[in-house]
Amino acid sequence: MQARSHHPVTLPHIAIDGPVASGKSTVALMVARRLNLLYVDTGAMYRAVALAALRDGVELDDGEALAELLQRHRIDLEPSAEARGYAVHLDGADVTARLFHGAVTAAVSTVAAQPQVRRVLVERQREIARHRAVVMAGRDIGTVVLPGAPFKVFLTASVAERVRRRWEEMQAAGSTIDAQALRAEVERRDHTDTTRVDSPLVPAQGALVLDSSALRAEEVVERIVSWVASGAAAGA
Ligand code: C5P
Repeated sequence: MQARSHHPVTLPHIAIDGPVASGKSTVALMVARRLNLLYVDTGAMYRAVALAALRDGVELDDGEALAELLQRHRIDLEPSAEARGYAVHLDGADVTARLFHGAVTAAVSTVAAQPQVRRVLVERQREIARHRAVVMAGRDIGTVVLPGAPFKVFLTASVAERVRRRWEEMQAAGSTIDAQALRAEVERRDHTDTTRVDSPLVPAQGALVLDSSALRAEEVVERIVSWVASGAAAGA
């Protein structure tokens, strides 16, 4: 008879962290589809909290009030065949498109800096990943949410390139923000995310650091998928 192991099983999770507009979401979705894994965009969860806070008139830096807000509202993240690969429901209503409105984007980093909010969302994210392999994208996935993940990627790109990509996305969506205002917004969010006390954005130890400034999304995906394949072969 074989002895039963009591060690927790390490699922082949793939953690993808990186700054604003580094291409995480696009790449994470493509990797998940290639490897047939669940894609989880944790940024969407923080955005849903920011949206609920704006609607309820809760102060964005009041951690206690935000914790209560989280108890009052139900946030569900579900896979979807739509372009983003997921849908977010707030109290049963699909709010996915609203999560990317300017007011929510401007509010989200302040909300995400509150430890009371992070505690709740990190627990939910771990729960999602407890029994199945996921590709999870965010800022603290390799460092805090899934520190045992065998595959950690830190995806980055120059500020100029990230602003250019976001600007193109917004143009395509019919938005008229000017490039300078957009750069200020990206730099402000980067600053808040990298300097906050709770779970600042930093590359996890052992992460594969990829600068995507000169790479297409397909090339980044190819590098990650072959890294995962070779790691899996080596028994990672
Ligand atoms: O990835 P996205 O830009 O949609 O994330 C929105 C914001 O949510 C980030 O700027 C960051 O403040 C916060 N966030 C976080 N931790 C994560 C994912 C997102 O703090 N794991």
